[in-house]
Amino acid sequence: MLSWAGTTEMDPAAHAPRVWFVLDALGLVCATATWLLVMSEGVVLLCAWLLPVRHPAYSLVHGSLFYLLAFLALASHARTMLTDPGALPAGAPARPGPTPGGPHCPLCGAIQPPGAHHCSVCERCIRGMDHHCPWVNNCVGEDNRKFFLLFTLYTALAALHLLLLLGVPALRAYALGEWNLRTTVQPRGSLVFLFLVALKGFLFAAVMFTVQIHTILTDRTGIEPPQRQRGAPGLVSPWMNLKAVLGHRPSPAWISPFASPEPRAMSLQL
Ligand SMILES: [Zn+2]
Ligand SMILES: [Zn+2]
Repeated sequence: MLSWAGTTEMDPAAHAPRVWFVLDALGLVCATATWLLVMSEGVVLLCAWLLPVRHPAYSLVHGSLFYLLAFLALASHARTMLTDPGALPAGAPARPGPTPGGPHCPLCGAIQPPGAHHCSVCERCIRGMDHHCPWVNNCVGEDNRKFFLLFTLYTALAALHLLLLLGVPALRAYALGEWNLRTTVQPRGSLVFLFLVALKGFLFAAVMFTVQIHTILTDRTGIEPPQRQRGAPGLVSPWMNLKAVLGHRPSPAWISPFASPEPRAMSLQL
């Protein structure tokens, strides 16, 4: 198998692996690129904008806000990547005909509950599988969906902050007739790079966040048909669906990448 869970397939502790890391070349490249882009934004912002401004209060406020959002985005990314998304224990390959305990995956032999699908990258069946995302080098499933949602949220907010930070003064200069393409843009190629990276990051993360919120509120995943019924009694309201992902009681832990939500089944009972 390509994913490493810190335990062996025959180990009973495989139900709760302590470490989860997918060994996929594309995923490792994309996840590393994500970290490098966010960190390069931080360096360029500091060197080309916050320090040259020479206004300590301005630089302190906006620097603190951006670095806090970037830190939360990268922490959420790490939790998404390193959390078991809900891998089901692999079993013996299925034989033709009805099998006890429910349908068996023909590829890994796992007993598949509703909503579980086999991931060819992780080479495991994943509970509540939404999709396999190379940018976080992991499946997005039942047990790490909160962290992926927070990753898209904080990435979008950090990028939006950069867009406003750079875009508002430029718009103001344009409105006052002080905008000059030769003198304003050319000496500040690093700021143009920063703006374009932030724009791409914002569009990507905002779209992903919107899609995730919609599918969570409607209790669906990215690979399930719209008419699918999860089959959980009482799980009908968007509020219940949201609590099943973030935790049964609204609290600051909902927006913390360091707080793990209760298992889905436990949230549904509360
Ligand atoms: Zn499988
Ligand atoms: Zn996967």
